[in-house]
Amino acid sequence: MTSSDELRVIVLAPTTRDADIAHRLLKEAAMDVVACRSIVELLDHIEVGAAAVVMTDHPTYSQSSITQLGRVLRNQPPWSELPIIALARAESASESLYALRSLPGLVLLERPVNTRTLLSSVSAAIRGRLRQYAMREQFEKLRIANDELNEAARTKDEFLATLAHELRNPLNAISTSAQVLKVAATRPRALEFAIDVIGRQVGQMSRLLDDLLDVSRITRNRMVLRKDLHSVSNILNAAIETARPLIDQKRHLLTVNLPDKNLFLMGDAVRIAQVLSNLLTNAAKYTEPAGRIAIKVMEDGEMVAICVSDTGIGIPQHSIHSIFDMFAQLRPAIDRSDGGLGIGLALAKGIVDLHGGTLSVTSDGENRGSEFVVRLPLAPCDVTTSLMDKSTATSDAHTEPQSLSRRVLIADDNADSLQSLTLLLQAQGHTVFAAKDGGEAIRLFEQHHPEFALLDIGMPVLNGYEVAQQVRSLCDANTMSKATLIAVTGWGQPEDKRKALAAGFDHHVTKPVGSDILRSLLNGVEVVS
Ligand code: ADP
Repeated sequence: MTSSDELRVIVLAPTTRDADIAHRLLKEAAMDVVACRSIVELLDHIEVGAAAVVMTDHPTYSQSSITQLGRVLRNQPPWSELPIIALARAESASESLYALRSLPGLVLLERPVNTRTLLSSVSAAIRGRLRQYAMREQFEKLRIANDELNEAARTKDEFLATLAHELRNPLNAISTSAQVLKVAATRPRALEFAIDVIGRQVGQMSRLLDDLLDVSRITRNRMVLRKDLHSVSNILNAAIETARPLIDQKRHLLTVNLPDKNLFLMGDAVRIAQVLSNLLTNAAKYTEPAGRIAIKVMEDGEMVAICVSDTGIGIPQHSIHSIFDMFAQLRPAIDRSDGGLGIGLALAKGIVDLHGGTLSVTSDGENRGSEFVVRLPLAPCDVTTSLMDKSTATSDAHTEPQSLSRRVLIADDNADSLQSLTLLLQAQGHTVFAAKDGGEAIRLFEQHHPEFALLDIGMPVLNGYEVAQQVRSLCDANTMSKATLIAVTGWGQPEDKRKALAAGFDHHVTKPVGSDILRSLLNGVEVVS
């Protein structure tokens, strides 16, 4: 913004007469004029702001004051060249005129100056100065954009460092466990330990990857909610179950305060439980051992308020607004024993927003604990009653499936994945045919007519989609009984799923596939992945 001082014309005229004439002339032309008598005074005005300077050549100017003026004019910011209009006699050979000529931005007018020439020169100088002010604004915008880019690049670098750190921990544990497995043949306890560690750490890595994919879904508006009627306490129980190991490990006391009335909401239970378990895990992470965590659920008009408070390290007031930003971490992961990627709260807020709710935080400051409050719309009473009947009916009808022995084709070009999945399915009592590419998958399918085919997508010879299409037409042409085709891929976005279903797959699951999901699929249980 241009200040009024920056629109002034400063007239430097050591003699009263010159000053009066210039002052009057410019004033008559509706210019904002300030007169001064010395270069020292002029410098003070320039510091505050000026559109142009009009000065007369005068023998009283000292060499040092002109040098000082030159220094100030040469040190202007890149957008600025303050116009200086100097009035001097043609025959003048004064030392001061010689020195004035070297000033940057100087226009010399010969005295006596025609009034119109002076006015048009000053007007042109002011117009030029206004263009400089406009350029200053552009410079400022560029500077802010540049600062933001630098900040984004810094945040991205920090995030990548944190991600590498977070992935290295489980990898390290898995790698050590693999060494343990080599020597574990005669030590059953070591074997059991290594298997536990690998299972746990793979779970940890999968959760990190799930969070990363969720972040990308939320930021691209691609997160799909599976909304249904759920009781708040059921969702809360699922969340507590997830966070419980860390709460117990840190010996925190957890208290839960529920209202007498059972509250229901219409939402995606898995996602809301994810939000609550994230808040609980954070409360456990950011509280010194043996702290207190409290959950309080309250009906608040048409909303339910779920408060998660802790007695932990708290949040400084200046960080409270940025805490929900993506990648926001108040202390770098390196300082914290229980790492994290700094995306949990951003994700939680995104999920709550998608449900039409709010997520807020308060804290009395460092080491004084924090309180997070999730507010979600309650289901309308009529929906609650009618849908409750239905959900009770479906849950009553649910029975545990029995394990069956299946004939399964697996195709994967990654030898380790192929081998381990073969071993796992054989251990579950299935007959397995293993193919290392799409071509072999088709041959084995024709030979053995398996009931199930677990197909990787990116494979040599024929990719998973092509195998699925060929298998479907083979079954149609030979009136073979329909095999269940399952795409097993690293790509878990909704469009990947749609592509798989369009190619003829019945299911799409993302790697790593848990043994429970496999068991359910091969037993014909509908799996949500
Ligand atoms: P992460 O825990 O992976 O770093 P989050 O997005 O879940 O990422 O949290 C962002 C940051 O907010 C954390 O790094 C931490 O500094 C702060 N924070 C979150 N929850 C709490 C809490 N209950 N108490 C204090 N600080 C917290």
